[in-house]
Amino acid sequence: MSSVPSPSSSATSQQFEPPKQQRVLTAVLQCRLCGQTCGVLESPAGVGLPPVARLTSTDGALSRLVAWQRLRCPRCGSGSLFAIEVAIVTRRHEAPIDMALDRPRRGRPPRWLVELRARQEAA
Ligand SMILES: [Zn+2]
Repeated sequence: MSSVPSPSSSATSQQFEPPKQQRVLTAVLQCRLCGQTCGVLESPAGVGLPPVARLTSTDGALSRLVAWQRLRCPRCGSGSLFAIEVAIVTRRHEAPIDMALDRPRRGRPPRWLVELRARQEAA
């Protein structure tokens, strides 16, 4: 006889994980000569700003890892850029919202979505 209920491990504990928090170091990269703001540097929080950090341009369109001390000012071409407003911020990492699955919907979800959810719950 096997009437002892087996504890289900997947149903309860993994549904609502609190968002992960990460401490990151941010700094504004500015040109010493003309004052042009080149972007915002970001790196994992540590001792000082590492020589390679993620640079997000001021309009937010571009984000890449750069050796920021070797960058040149896009406006005057000066190589003397420096980091100001260095700060450590705590950033929350929440589950990314998938807009394709988050559309308002009516009635039964399509079969592909049911299968996708089943796969995500099983994972
Ligand atoms: Zn400049």
